[in-house]
Amino acid sequence: MTQRLVIANWKMNGDLAFLEALASSLPSLSNVQTVIAPPAVYALRLAELAQGVFEVGLQDVGSHESGAHTGEVSAAMARDLGASVVLVGHSERRSEHAEDDKIVAAKCEQIIAAGLMPVICVGETLVERESGKAIDRVRAQVTAQKHCLRNAKEVAIAYEPIWAIGTGKSATVTEAVQMHQAIRGVLKEIVPAAAPGISILYGGSVNAENAPELFAYPEIQGVLVGGASLDTQQFAAIIRAAAK
Ligand code: PEP
Repeated sequence: MTQRLVIANWKMNGDLAFLEALASSLPSLSNVQTVIAPPAVYALRLAELAQGVFEVGLQDVGSHESGAHTGEVSAAMARDLGASVVLVGHSERRSEHAEDDKIVAAKCEQIIAAGLMPVICVGETLVERESGKAIDRVRAQVTAQKHCLRNAKEVAIAYEPIWAIGTGKSATVTEAVQMHQAIRGVLKEIVPAAAPGISILYGGSVNAENAPELFAYPEIQGVLVGGASLDTQQFAAIIRAAAK
């Protein structure tokens, strides 16, 4: 956990022209691992442009190794495309594609088998937060991935409160730090040997303005950035904030 991790999740945004522009304008900082997760179809081109400045991620992969699964991309294909990191269990996958913890675990196993790093996304709804169930919800999501957390050579968790994703309403640093401490506690409990090597990232309306405040806390070892990663200057500023 020596490097901070900054991951861009483009979701279903961007195009080839943006990809070329972004690739040539990101800072290369030794203490920050930058990962860009574009739509899968752009991964190969992005890997050609990476030049050691950033790594390529995928936003998702299928839960099977291969076979009759129309529209899916396997973890081995992600590796072939040049990806080193794969997001898994993003709340948009959980809600729009009915992915439960079991599917997330199956995907995680595929990612590990392909030799890639899973970034497991967890987070509570607004109703869960307001009813005091946020920590229990996240604890259950993390615990469900125990096998993956124990067996992965490299793995990270991204805490993304669902109410903060794409809303412009980031969690306060106090809320983020409290949850990161709780997650760290769960990791120590369920995978004590692996826990020290697992980074915990925050995601949810991170931007150039709030990034420095988040990175002031050692509990926050990186960020997962959606909207602001589509603005080259803003994303570069977030990377620089991570380096401080
Ligand atoms: C995300 O979708 O992972 C995310 C954090 O989005 P945003 O930064 O736009 O809230």
